[in-house]
Amino acid sequence: MKILKVGGAVRDSLLNHPHSEVDWVVVGATPQALLDRGFTQVGKDFPVFLHPSTKEEYALARTERKSGRGYHGFEVHAHPSVTLEEDLARRDLTINAMAMTDEGDIIDPYGGRADIAKRLLRHVSPHFIEDPLRVLRVARFAGRYGYLGFTVAPETLTLMQRIVAAGELAHLSVERIWTETERALAESQPEIYFSVLKDCGALEALMPALALSNGIDHLTRARVHTTRVDCRWAALLATLSPDNATQTCRALKAPKLFEALANGVARYQPATKNALRQASGCFDLLKGLDSFRRDEPFDGFLATLAALEGHSADAHPTTRLLRRACEAARQINAASTGTNTLTGPALGAAIKERQIRVIAATLAQ
Ligand code: ATP
Ligand code: MG
Repeated sequence: MKILKVGGAVRDSLLNHPHSEVDWVVVGATPQALLDRGFTQVGKDFPVFLHPSTKEEYALARTERKSGRGYHGFEVHAHPSVTLEEDLARRDLTINAMAMTDEGDIIDPYGGRADIAKRLLRHVSPHFIEDPLRVLRVARFAGRYGYLGFTVAPETLTLMQRIVAAGELAHLSVERIWTETERALAESQPEIYFSVLKDCGALEALMPALALSNGIDHLTRARVHTTRVDCRWAALLATLSPDNATQTCRALKAPKLFEALANGVARYQPATKNALRQASGCFDLLKGLDSFRRDEPFDGFLATLAALEGHSADAHPTTRLLRRACEAARQINAASTGTNTLTGPALGAAIKERQIRVIAATLAQ
């Protein structure tokens, strides 16, 4: 049996890009041979094993044949006779289809190194179109390696357009789409993920309200000042109506905190200037963001607001003022009303009046 490093670890070592997990391919072995060496099998559909001590993934060399629709419609053929070249042929991009021996020799049957030199994300074969997840993966890699000058090869973009036009994205699970999107938001140029999706028509299919907005420009500006993925997401959706922001989050099953933040930014960012002049508006903003009771989504709101305006959260006069107003209002409780006869709505109204007063005093400072 032969064991080689494959995929991202090989690509990233050639690119000098940091990489954490290593994937391995095992050629000329049976599942039993790996089990005998203490590996445990993890793949339900695929013959993938975990190393007994490092817990890294070892996959038997395999070929795949399209047998149905979508991401899972593959017939997998793993056998000791499958060659390394055959295994590499099923991979998405040429830069992901290289292997490395223990001695550091690179096996590169599909021109991965040439495409690294040309800074191209290029598909390995026409079979690329068989898995719609690749549309999202390529967009994500474009966001990750944009800083090195990588772009999507025009012929690969054409195949991505074909996948989208054939309606294949509908076969991806929402969870998978969100996972890719959340990972893309953490990349160095997340806006490239969304613009590549736009270029191939996928943005319109997956996030139609966003495709019609100028959200990508907002994300481009904001991501410089925040690495928080929820804030980047909220910046992207900032110019949608609050309802559209919420709907976009729900359609992708984004986590509740992402949804609350995106809705809060879409709703209150336009009202912020006014809120700084008028205590009752400021109260509505703080209350609407649940900031008297919780840190989030208020902290995220401030970070997003600052990032959209070109600042980090603690170096932005507007967010500092809103935070002081919030802290002042948080000090107010039943005892602050100066009477213990009030209950229910009357007490609530008295507390609100006090809070507006201390907010006004803070804004006037
Ligand atoms: P990352 O740094 O994000 O882990 P990676 O390239 O290692 O990037 P993995 O998802 O870990 O990505 O997959 C390992 C390898 O498996 C890839 O490099 C690629 O060769 C192959 N691969 C993964 N998913 C697909 C897919 N949907 N279609 C084709 N090949 C894939
Ligand atoms: Mg990997």
